[in-house]
Formats: sequence, C-alpha cells, structure tokens
Amino acid sequence: MRKIRIFDTTLRDGEQCPGASMNKEEKLTVARQLARLNVDIIEAGFPVASQDDYEGVRLIAKEVRGPVIAGLARARKEDIERAGEAVSVAERSRIHTFIATSEIHMQRKLRMSRDGVLEAAVAAVRLARQLTDDVEFSAEDASRSDIDFLCRVIEAVINAGASTVNIPDTVGYALPGEFGELILQIFNRVPDIDKSVISVHCHNDLGLAVANSLSAVLAGAGQVECTVNGIGERAGNASLEEVVMAIKTRGQFFNADTGINTQEIYKTSRLVSSITGMVVQPNKAIVGANAFAHESGIHQDGLLKDKRTYEIMTPESVGIQMHKLVLGKHSGRHAFKNKLEELGYSLSDEEINKAFDRFKHVADQKKEVFEEDIEAIVSEEVYRIPEKYVLKYIYVESGSDKTPVATVELEIDGKCVREVSSGDGPVDATYRTIKLITSASSHLRSYEVKAITGGTDALGEVTVRVDEGGRTVVGQGADTDIIVASAKAYLNALNKLAYRNRR
Ligand SMILES: [Zn+2]
Repeated sequence: MRKIRIFDTTLRDGEQCPGASMNKEEKLTVARQLARLNVDIIEAGFPVASQDDYEGVRLIAKEVRGPVIAGLARARKEDIERAGEAVSVAERSRIHTFIATSEIHMQRKLRMSRDGVLEAAVAAVRLARQLTDDVEFSAEDASRSDIDFLCRVIEAVINAGASTVNIPDTVGYALPGEFGELILQIFNRVPDIDKSVISVHCHNDLGLAVANSLSAVLAGAGQVECTVNGIGERAGNASLEEVVMAIKTRGQFFNADTGINTQEIYKTSRLVSSITGMVVQPNKAIVGANAFAHESGIHQDGLLKDKRTYEIMTPESVGIQMHKLVLGKHSGRHAFKNKLEELGYSLSDEEINKAFDRFKHVADQKKEVFEEDIEAIVSEEVYRIPEKYVLKYIYVESGSDKTPVATVELEIDGKCVREVSSGDGPVDATYRTIKLITSASSHLRSYEVKAITGGTDALGEVTVRVDEGGRTVVGQGADTDIIVASAKAYLNALNKLAYRNRR
C-alpha cells in the first residue's frame, strides 16, 4: 500500500479565514494536538508576514516533536531567509516556497514574464536548499496554468532540489476528473518526476476540495494538504478528517493509507473549533454532531440487527464516545488526573489544581460530568492568556415585566470596580455593565450559545466575536449559568485584546 502524507495547514491557510486568528500559545496547543494526530507535516505559519507569525512558527519548531515543521515563503530572498530562521530550531524542518504560474497571476498580479517566473522559482528553491534539505515548491494557481509551462517549471524546480512539488487548485476552480487528469499528465510529461513527491492543495469554492484531492491521490499524488474542519481562505480547504477517513474507509480502492491516528480526529476537531470559534455545522461529515446519529426507525432497526447495515465506519474509529459519563461530585483529584491523562492532556500540578477546583464547582452544580465538560474546563482554565479583567461578582435581575438590571464587579490590575446597568435582556444588561467598567471601544460582532452536553443542567458554552481596529478576536466562556458564561466569554475576548495590545 502507498502511504499518503498528510500536510496540515490549519495554522497557516486555516488561520487566514476571517475571525479565526490565533495567538502563539493557541497555535502551540493546536500544533501539539496535530502531533498526537500524527500528521506528517505541520505548516506552522508564514514567518515573514508579521513578528507574531514568525514567533509562532519558531515556538512550534522548538517545542513540537514528531511532524516536520514547515514555514511558508514567497519566492523572495527575505521571505525564504525569514522562514529558514523560524524553522531552523525544528527536529526536521521544511521551507515551502511558492510563485504563481497562471497567465492571469503572472501578468496581472506579479507583472512578470514566464521566463522571469521560472528563474525566480529556481532561485528560490536553490536558496531554500542552502537552509534546509527539505524544500517544497508550489506553483500557485496551477490548475489554471498552461500545462506546458507548468511542466517546465516543475522539471526545473525538481532539478534545483525541491523534494516536494505542490499543485494547488488555489481558487477552487477544478473538477475532480479534470484535476486527476492534470496530475496524470504531470506524471507522464515531467522527466525525473519520481525524484519528488507530488502534492495537492485544493480549495472548496465549489465544494469539491476533498473530491479533487482524492482524485489526485488516485492519479498518483503522494501528499495532500488539508485543514482540520476544512477551515481556510474563503470557502476553506480540503478537510483533513474527510480526506483521511475516505482513504481509510476505502483503503482497498485507493490501495493507500495515511499515518493518521484517526482516534484523535474528533478531539482535534473540537479543539480547533473551540480555539478559533469556527463552529462545526451539525451535518458536517465525520465530525458534525449528527455524523453518526441515526434517526429513521428503519435505520435504527437495521443497526440493532447488524451495525454494518447503515454504518460504514464507527464513531469510535474517529474518537467519538457518545457522552461517556466519567466523573461525579465524589470523584477525587486522583481520578480527575487519570481522566485528564486518558484524554491526552499533560498538565503541570498547578494546572491540574486549577482545573480540579473548577471541576468540583461544576460537579456540585450538575451531577454528571462528561468528557466534553472536562475538555471545556481545561480549555477555560488552563489554556488562558494572562487576564487583565477578572470576573469577581455578577448579579442579574430579570423577568417578564421587569427591565433587566446587571451588577458586575471586575478586578482590574488588582483593583475591584463595581457598576450597575440595565439593558434589553439579561445578557445585554451584563454586556453594557462590562462595557461601562472597561470603557471598551470594541464592537461585539456575534454572539452564540450552545449546550455542551444534553439536559437543562448542561454546561452552556458562549462564543463571541469582538472587533477592534479592524481585527477580530474570539472569546469563549462555559458555565452552567448562561449569563455567567456570557460574561466570561465577553471578558475572555477583552482580555485577548488587552494581551495583544500590550505587546
Ligand atoms: Zn490555500
């Protein structure tokens, strides 16, 4: 069986989707989980884009072991040197350099001739090879490029030392049969093509990113670039979980496999969704809330007789355990610590203590604590940035014939401030009061609430998006009281803004 390499670009292309930006601590958390998922390559960012990007890539290169750590660079000297510097501390590093090869991009965007582009591509790969042995080249907008020219470029960059050549469908224009044919043509026409791994990077503008990627695998591609939950520019990228589970479920058809530890898929999906605030639609394949839910009586009857009647893969194979009850109010610190380890978290004693205090509080309020609740507690208590604003007290009065009034007390740099304000509803009153105390100039763009597990005593999880100065941050909060969860989510966003502005 052929092994298909999984190149994850959640932290680079995925992070480019509006409102999904992550700080470097959040990127590191995602990268660690991608290593547990056992992806082959993590594209950690675009180091020349900003100081934050550079530091994020460098931190991941330094801390994360297992996957190759890649940094993106245009075919320019300063980009390549910056990317090389950022990934140099990795166990195994890759520089991923690119330039566009389609007429529209060359003429309109780059204002360069074909020969100029070819020269720049070769020079970029040569320079990158001086900094690392592992160089990937991408022909941006390959699917809309003239195939003769594209093949010339591919031949030249392989000779210059590119060990991976990526064929992106940058604008999501290709169709599956056509894209597979393009890959076949490249294999047939380019001499020395076997000296390099052919990769694909498909966008989902027509909803075909996964189909195009799989068609390319059939035609011989050995690497697929994808993102967790399919997040990315515009309509997103090929979704990692769909590509991986299609190859796994239909392994005989593809005569191929990936190295992915599929039981980590669901946890990775939840982590990325929780950190980016990009909610997964319920009917999303593999990781959506309904992906393994059977509603029709005929289906349920069949499943009871033999699961294979309606199930092509098991929820367990992607790490979904249907609301497994794990702990209750009498569970001790030891049981809690064991459960954290089982869930894949390796935390310091201090972090465990913080999470355990919160767990006790939650367990007092709801008798049954599920794995999802524990994940919410860890993401709330542990993966937190330093807080400028700390919620000390909240009291809200509301009713059918009453104007809601919220009293909120915050600790700001060690000092407590209390204010009272009214609003159109209890959440509005709370947010007005917080705004009054913090004199926030930011603008609340969206507010979403969902229950993490079933029942009216469930933890409510609130996600807000807050804009300030053209950038968006995501804030989240979880509590059995949704007004408290709402306050926490808003403060989480304001704390992220304060943390960002401090640097
Ligand atoms: Zn892309």
